[in-house]
Amino acid sequence: MSETAPPPEAPVKAPISRLWVYARHHWRLLLIGGILSFAGGLTGLIQPLIAMDVIDTLSSDESLARPLMLLAAVVLVGGALSAFGPYLMQIAGQDVVLTVRKHLIGRLVRLEVSEVDRLKPGDLVSRLSSDTNLLRTVASTTVIGGVTDGFMIIGGIALMAWLDLVLFGTTMAMVVMVTVMMLVIMPRIQNATVDSQKALGDMSSLLERIFSSFRTVKASSAEAHEIARLEGAATVARDRGVTASLWEGLAGVAAWLPINVAFLMVLGVGGARVADGTMDVSTLVGFLLLLFYLMGPVNGLVASLSQLQTGLAAVQRVEDVAVLDAEKPAEATLVPTGSGPARVTFEDVTFRYAEDLPYVHHGVTFTSAGRGLTAFVGPSGAGKTTVFSLIERFYPITGGSVTVDGREVREWPLTELRGMIGYVEQDAPVLDGTLRENLVMAAPDARDEDIETVLKQARLTELVGKLPDGLESAIGYRGTTLSGGERQRVAIARALLRKPRLLLLDEATSQLDATNEAALKQVMLDAAEQTNVLVVAHRLSTVTSADQIVVMDAGKVRAVGTHEELVEIDELYRDLATSQLLAAE
Ligand code: ADP
Ligand code: MG
Repeated sequence: MSETAPPPEAPVKAPISRLWVYARHHWRLLLIGGILSFAGGLTGLIQPLIAMDVIDTLSSDESLARPLMLLAAVVLVGGALSAFGPYLMQIAGQDVVLTVRKHLIGRLVRLEVSEVDRLKPGDLVSRLSSDTNLLRTVASTTVIGGVTDGFMIIGGIALMAWLDLVLFGTTMAMVVMVTVMMLVIMPRIQNATVDSQKALGDMSSLLERIFSSFRTVKASSAEAHEIARLEGAATVARDRGVTASLWEGLAGVAAWLPINVAFLMVLGVGGARVADGTMDVSTLVGFLLLLFYLMGPVNGLVASLSQLQTGLAAVQRVEDVAVLDAEKPAEATLVPTGSGPARVTFEDVTFRYAEDLPYVHHGVTFTSAGRGLTAFVGPSGAGKTTVFSLIERFYPITGGSVTVDGREVREWPLTELRGMIGYVEQDAPVLDGTLRENLVMAAPDARDEDIETVLKQARLTELVGKLPDGLESAIGYRGTTLSGGERQRVAIARALLRKPRLLLLDEATSQLDATNEAALKQVMLDAAEQTNVLVVAHRLSTVTSADQIVVMDAGKVRAVGTHEELVEIDELYRDLATSQLLAAE
């Protein structure tokens, strides 16, 4: 259905115990709600006994008022308890969902980059929103409702045994029948639910993919094709949902039918015994009323068991992604961070993105130290962007050594390492939000003066002046759309706000207009006076101003030097510099 690999279906050992891990923080509310609901349920069990009392009173000369008022009081209190108890449990259920979502959010955002490469964002969204919601009922009313119903059933059965053993035996045969059928049906509900939720995840993934390349879909006139794929996923979800409903329905019938058969049999057997005088009418009526009242709890228990299967399916899907590798949280910092431009070295670095993928770096070596501009050039796919990913430690290297300030990046505490680097991605993403939010996301305590400074450095002051609300203008998805060059400069300003000791700039491949291009070059050169700037360069103007150029090809460094040196000694560089691969000014 989709090109990306599905998340590994890591076996979740016991979903029910995982559910408890989330639910246990809310046990107080669950318990209080449960006790109230249980008490409400008990009043339902007392009602037949009082009704028997009413019938007995009929044949005596006592007044009916007392037992009737008692019955009314029991009904009222029972009603109140049965409303309030479940309400408390619903609150607890929402709290459990919140706990699960917080856990999942924390895990998802901290995932290893390599895990995210393999995942489908839409599917993750679906797990976070839809599957967690399926959990809610299970974490609240289901378990306690089921327990309450179970107790009521046990209580009812005990009362039956106490009232009359013969009728009790008749009923028990049916109880055994119900149990056997449930054992067959329940696992099927869980499987059908997992399948159905999976289809929903696929649908979200497809949708996410379409909207992330909406222009391409339009330009390829691929709407009909994409609609068919989405509808396909929606239809699969529907079919599997229907299958789950079918089994749920069967579970209902499997409970309902035996109870009604029991009702008939009790009526027949009991009626005969009343006729030959071996049993009181009130006992028979009491027994029948008990059976009648038990229908509620039995149906409730069956529904609870069905919901439990749905919930366990959801827990399983949540846990599948909650167990994926997250980056280690910030380790305690022991080393004082240095100051000034950071020094980067690669020594014979080998790297591949995954064990089943070919090597991308076959022994990359270079050093970049001190203030200045180091440019990386080479054909697309040479491994330039990967160099930056390895400096940021988005992935672990397989061999060699990558150091920053003489220390292996794998030994740096992540927050310290990334804290000293300003990184501008190739697409220079601008997130949905205001310009200010976009700037301060990497430096939350930046002061207004700092923001002003980086805006000036990134040649953005004029642009901000033209925006409707200045710094508070919305940019990104729903706001003012910035041009490629402006986006890149916003991203640079964001990176500069951290006062980076190392600036990594992945130049956009797309053409920029002359004004933007000149501005960008100036911004880069300014930055290189302050700090160590590494740039993946696609423009001749960038490379010619570099202090050092690293020429990469097919995962190797071919040559290092200045423009003048490289034109002399490196054929590939000469080709690049003269061809459109490095666009001239
Ligand atoms: P460049 O920036 O020089 O164009 P990259 O460093 O982006 O090259 O990519 C080098 C190689 O690694 C390419 O063959 C690319 O397909 C592959 N690659 C890049 N990113 C990933 C990834 N996340 N997962 C797997 N392969 C990747
Ligand atoms: Mg690249």
